[in-house]
Amino acid sequence: MHSELGFGNLKSRNLSALSTKEKVKLHDIITDEKLLTIPCAPVKDFDEGKKIADILFEILADQQNGIGLAANQIGINKAVCVVNITAPLWFLNPEFVPANDAKINFHEACLSFPEKTVITERYKEIYVTSNNFDNVLHFGPWNVLECVCVQHEISHLLGKTMYDFEANDEK
Ligand SMILES: [Zn+2]
Repeated sequence: MHSELGFGNLKSRNLSALSTKEKVKLHDIITDEKLLTIPCAPVKDFDEGKKIADILFEILADQQNGIGLAANQIGINKAVCVVNITAPLWFLNPEFVPANDAKINFHEACLSFPEKTVITERYKEIYVTSNNFDNVLHFGPWNVLECVCVQHEISHLLGKTMYDFEANDEK
């Protein structure tokens, strides 16, 4: 996801102004919607998951305003994703459940769909389990951006993009 989410219009990316290194990194991100609909396989080995997370953090750091990335967005079909908003968080075989029925509309963007934004409907508060955390993690309206981003990235691992969560009035 991008950091502009929920904060107005997405700034257009000036490709011609990017360095060669940045161009290569941009090509690392999968933009083929068909590939993004394939659910990721669980990762059995912690070290393998950590290695994938390190690569994701590295590529994410090279993206302008990037705040979250899932392994299948860089062609690795394994259930690992990262979010970096208040702190770098990585998730191994994560799952989330809503804390209640409350939903919010949010202005989202995705590194796999450059220049596109969508108004989505997401849960306002979620509980997350992830194999690299002993405790259940809790995300909610105290940090809407992080809460939505975690849902966005975990949904990628299930083969769902932001378009699957488009708010009804936007269709
Ligand atoms: Zn995305």
